[in-house]
Amino acid sequence: MAYEVPPLPYDYAALEPHIDAETMKLHHDKHHTAYVNNLNAAIEKHPELGKHAPEDLLRNLSGIPEDIRGAVRNNGGGHVNHTMFWAIMKPKGGGEPSGAIREQIAKDFGSFDALKKQFNETTAKQFGSGWGWLVWEGGKLKIVTTPNQDSPLSQGLYPILGNDVWEHAYYLKYQNKRADYLAAWWNTVNWEEVNKRFERAQQ
Ligand code: MN
Repeated sequence: MAYEVPPLPYDYAALEPHIDAETMKLHHDKHHTAYVNNLNAAIEKHPELGKHAPEDLLRNLSGIPEDIRGAVRNNGGGHVNHTMFWAIMKPKGGGEPSGAIREQIAKDFGSFDALKKQFNETTAKQFGSGWGWLVWEGGKLKIVTTPNQDSPLSQGLYPILGNDVWEHAYYLKYQNKRADYLAAWWNTVNWEEVNKRFERAQQ
């Protein structure tokens, strides 16, 4: 198989109480696996695509054969978005940002609280399924949302962090209270990994 689901880097229960173990198990083992299986099935017709990093498929969607472009956009996006998602969270995460991203947040938003407020408000309003993102664009941090599994990479934007607001990400524990999930999620953030992504974004 060209693409594989990365193992979760911690236990299903490791992000409790902010994200429950049952949600993590379904999200990683069922949802992410389905995106990867569907991506692999889509590229069976064009196996040469499988030698590319999945991020590169998303950066160049217009170069993907039309018969599978939609499948790659949705399932390649699902794969890349979730691979990032597991990595930017960790047990006993959260707290104040550290390192270079801390300075950049202060510069572009005034404070971490101001960033969180804008991110949570913007992402709460994403209609239906999608993601909220902190991206790097033109030397500045910016908050955007995308519908479905669309990746900021397809718009030439590098995602430094992102939160999944598909109902599968929070419904078991938070039901319809997306705002509560968004607020709690910051307690899981792995700022070391976010700093690595910030570094990559600037390259
Ligand atoms: Mn998801």
